[in-house]
Amino acid sequence: MVLRRFAPILALIGLVFLGSLDSVSAQKFRWQQIKVSGRDYIPADNIVDFYRFDKKSIEGNVIRFHSRKLTMTGRVGSQTLLINRIKFILSYPIRRHAGHVVVSKLDLCKLIDPVLRPSQAMSRKPFDTVVIDPGHGGHDSGAYCALGKEANFALDTARQLKSLLQRRGYKVVLTRNKDEFITLGNRVKFANRYKNAIFVSLHYNSGQSRASGIETFALSPQGSSSTFAGRRSSDYMNFQGNDNDSENIALSTAIHAAAIGQIRTIDRGIKRARWTVLTGLKIPGVLFEGGFLSNPAEARKIATPAHRKKIAVALAKGIDNYREALARRR
Ligand SMILES: [Zn+2]
Repeated sequence: MVLRRFAPILALIGLVFLGSLDSVSAQKFRWQQIKVSGRDYIPADNIVDFYRFDKKSIEGNVIRFHSRKLTMTGRVGSQTLLINRIKFILSYPIRRHAGHVVVSKLDLCKLIDPVLRPSQAMSRKPFDTVVIDPGHGGHDSGAYCALGKEANFALDTARQLKSLLQRRGYKVVLTRNKDEFITLGNRVKFANRYKNAIFVSLHYNSGQSRASGIETFALSPQGSSSTFAGRRSSDYMNFQGNDNDSENIALSTAIHAAAIGQIRTIDRGIKRARWTVLTGLKIPGVLFEGGFLSNPAEARKIATPAHRKKIAVALAKGIDNYREALARRR
């Protein structure tokens, strides 16, 4: 099999795309699966061979995979994985077992593979429409601070993003274009009317006053819990949105990498959750949290139109990078 190494598909993090793991195993790559506590894991050496990293190094609990244009760094016992310095949150911690450092097969298939090999993992046709979903609205103001409310900041960001995308030739629709309440279910229904489309839900965050930074959510794959919660029965369900698992994580990566590349802030990572606006989608989708209104310094920034424009510019760049990745797929 020929690996197209380091095709700069998502320019900001240098993604490479190869093929679904199952199709590869059919092509006789010898995956060495190890069962640990009933779950399948893949040894790091196997990952080095398959993705043709030049080498791996282990110092204490830190494991690094190196190539000329790609580094991947994780830590035994941790769910954080850095791919070219962009932070991803794995579904299961990296472990050590019988002399091997191992990564869960679910994370390999649902995160590492579609990120490193988008051209193989993604099957979708190119899209021409972006459905932007400004979070909250009406009686649901979302997060708020003395300078304003999330619903309004999200709407303004959505409008700025719309005009940037239209200038790039995309068709753009908004789930709401005024301060009105729309149920999550109706946002999904609206988005699903569009076929060659992607869905981008825009939010600003709230948490402890010290919390800050950007985080991006892709729908949890079946068998994986949300980043926040313990295990639930829904972890074992397959939702409509899971049909686009590869596209969801690739789109999230493109958007998150562009945002982290362009906005000076804390990288809180690409996370997993079963938000209602993501579970029912028939098109690839992402939920973006552009910073914390509960953090006074960050709230002051978010309250300025110039900062929201910066965010819109980064999101447009991420969407362009994702479109480019799909174009290379053909
Ligand atoms: Zn929100």
